[in-house]
Amino acid sequence: MVYKRKISAEEAMLGKILITKDMWKRLPPPGAKVQVKFHGESLPVSIEAVACTCRGPLKPHEHYYFVLPEETQLYSGQSIHLEVEEGAGVS
Ligand SMILES: [Zn+2]
Repeated sequence: MVYKRKISAEEAMLGKILITKDMWKRLPPPGAKVQVKFHGESLPVSIEAVACTCRGPLKPHEHYYFVLPEETQLYSGQSIHLEVEEGAGVS
């Protein structure tokens, strides 16, 4: 599964990559770790769910993120290419 995205200023600041709904439906649940290829480098990332009220208090929902290892830098406007290694590290 290849995931491509343009990093926002917020994602760069958090060091996390927002996962769109069509993608997270195909991933293991939040808390799981998956092995990914990130620009050619194999990295362990965790999947995190964060409660959010950006659509108003009556529509609470969750945002899902890939959390990268601390030393991995993201910058605003970066076009990322991330490939989830099927079956690898999925629990
Ligand atoms: Zn939201």
